[in-house]
Amino acid sequence: EGALYVVATPIGNLEDLSPRATRVLGEVDWIAAEDTRHSARLLRPLGIDKPLVSLHEHNEQMRVETLRQALDTGKNVALISDAGTPLISDPGYVVVRELRASGHRVIPVPGACALITALSAAGLATNRFLFEGFLPAKGGPRRQRLMEGREREETLVYYESPHRIQATLQDIAALFGTRRVVLARELTKTFETFLDADAETLGRRMQEDPNQARGEFVIMVAGAAPPDDETHALAEGEAWLAAMLAE
Ligand code: SAM
Repeated sequence: EGALYVVATPIGNLEDLSPRATRVLGEVDWIAAEDTRHSARLLRPLGIDKPLVSLHEHNEQMRVETLRQALDTGKNVALISDAGTPLISDPGYVVVRELRASGHRVIPVPGACALITALSAAGLATNRFLFEGFLPAKGGPRRQRLMEGREREETLVYYESPHRIQATLQDIAALFGTRRVVLARELTKTFETFLDADAETLGRRMQEDPNQARGEFVIMVAGAAPPDDETHALAEGEAWLAAMLAE
């Protein structure tokens, strides 16, 4: 019986494709890819010419049966996305969930992931972080989601596209004030940049230099300061009082 290999591909720099990933992609019978044309451009230079099946958010459920049959007939399949680690703000969750549920082997082949890459060099706390993926596109729900993170003590991590980066920074400035923000742009690529300031300053930098608004972004926001002892004691006192009153 075959296995599903979940294979990470580069997020920009092709050297980040691991030797193991290259070998697995060369050995499997099929490759399930988010965008088959995009992936063909990655695979062709490696001399990998495999049947590609598309797997995107609109056909994932439908593909489960196809992939299950492939594994049942002894075929090995690799799952890749356009960039980075599949399932991380990318398709694949339904397929992995369903194939595992039916007892099939799912084998991760790790590699690049934008959020981990960004955190590894940002200089923000990494012991705890909250990955929020993409923020909602519409202003109201986006601000709501940001609000939900405001009191969290973990480092907050968001993915953002160049279309909305300015609007999102404005929202962060309005809701987080002078909180420290690290913006990682074009990771592993030629114009890789880390900017470190408050959101308003970052927004201004982008207006002054529109090149800074190009490309792909990971936005990281420092977690809220833990409540100091005094407020903490006060909160505990209040909780105690409430408990007493309830009795
Ligand atoms: N699966 C991918 C991963 O493992 O990171 C993420 C895919 S998601 C559709 C694409 C988003 O990831 C981009 O909009 C951006 O927020 C982030 N991203 C991907 N590559 C990046 C890069 N080279 N630099 C900065 N952010 C990147």
